[in-house]
Amino acid sequence: MPGPNLVIRAKQVVLPESIAPRSIHMTGDVVTSIESYDSIPEGCELIETDSDSVLMPGLVDTHVHVNEPGRTEWEGFATATRAAAAGGVTTLIDMPLNSIPPTTTVAGFKAKLRAVRGQCQVDVGFWGGVVPGNAGELAPLFELGVVGFKCFLIHSGVDEFPNVTEDDLQRAMPELTRLGAVLIVHAEVPGPMSRTGIPTCPSSVGEQTAGTDGNVCPTKYETFLATRPRAAENEAVELMIRLSREFGTRIHIVHHSSADALPMLRDAKTAGVKITAETCPHYLTFAAEEIPDGATEFKCCPPIRERQNREQLWQALGDETIDMIVSDHSPCPPEMKLRETGDFLQAWGGISSLQLRLPIVWTEALRRGFSIQDLARWLCSAPAGLVGLSDRKGFIKVGYDADLVIWNPEKQFTVHGDALHHRHKLTPYDGLVLNGVVEKTFLRGRKIYDGGEFIDEPQGLLLTQ
Ligand SMILES: [Zn+2]
Repeated sequence: MPGPNLVIRAKQVVLPESIAPRSIHMTGDVVTSIESYDSIPEGCELIETDSDSVLMPGLVDTHVHVNEPGRTEWEGFATATRAAAAGGVTTLIDMPLNSIPPTTTVAGFKAKLRAVRGQCQVDVGFWGGVVPGNAGELAPLFELGVVGFKCFLIHSGVDEFPNVTEDDLQRAMPELTRLGAVLIVHAEVPGPMSRTGIPTCPSSVGEQTAGTDGNVCPTKYETFLATRPRAAENEAVELMIRLSREFGTRIHIVHHSSADALPMLRDAKTAGVKITAETCPHYLTFAAEEIPDGATEFKCCPPIRERQNREQLWQALGDETIDMIVSDHSPCPPEMKLRETGDFLQAWGGISSLQLRLPIVWTEALRRGFSIQDLARWLCSAPAGLVGLSDRKGFIKVGYDADLVIWNPEKQFTVHGDALHHRHKLTPYDGLVLNGVVEKTFLRGRKIYDGGEFIDEPQGLLLTQ
């Protein structure tokens, strides 16, 4: 067997069970051995890291809305995957909606695969969608390589991706169980929203059709928060636990925000229900009480809730009721945020943080006493497991893809929208000082990002096998 063609060594390598000084030997795409720090064969390229830098598995982000084809002006694969590389993300999974066509049919998936080719700086996989009437498309989509399926229990914000009802799920879930496919769920139901008495359309991400009356101030964050009560999430989680019990389908709750539903999730997991959950950096960083009037860059659905809710989400990460943290990178052109009027009810919902997930989460995790190994579980191995990639990504292990990030947990930087490689730069993180600087990113043994520079042509693979 030929020797390694690249060795990276670091004083802190994040291994599955420990953090230790090691040299990581790579041949081609994969890690071929993990050796002591000083074990460097002659004649191969060696990359050294600073003594306080960490070598960690490349991040896996399973919740990214890229929007190409059809809404590429919101975000496309070229810009999204550059942002990913700059953020230490080596695998992203694209959501099935906001592109036109959506990934709810074989034809739609093929259109997306055609649009993506040759553009990706990192490896990219795809979610399919469950919408009313497409149960017959699920098996062929799975066969073509989607990693699983997403559905909405409430208006998705775009008309070409309608939400499902319980009746639709009764039809789709036996098929998903038969396929062994995971169903990921936007878990808010409309009922509790219509009971709030605030006259807004219960769309999930921003299309508000009704006007507001004189008693409601649409530029106040608390007005928006009241339109998306915790009960909408709680009832949705309850429904999905019940249906998972009935049909045996693996369920994953996306962007979970309501702390009230955590005991229910905890109990369901303990009882053996096949359910997992994710939350997002914004729910773990911001608090409703601190969001200024008119600051629509903070709008997302479900909403950022109160400070105490945030701390409960952190506790749930600690006890593994919540399994992972993904970005829900959900961009739109800045005009759609209606920053001039500051109308929370009319603005598009969605926060883009693909590039910033590592430092945001590290900054907040550090304050609460969590470790870099917790971070690696939430950002790398757990998301890889969700999409069936835990035999090749999410860990630094022999035989695994040499997807790696070198970052410095001690260094700080200030977020500036201009330094983001996302297509659009409006961000609620602007001006925040974060801990953790991504220095270099490696995709399958090739350096793709180094201190602000992108290396080489796009090398990302489409993960459809
Ligand atoms: Zn999303």
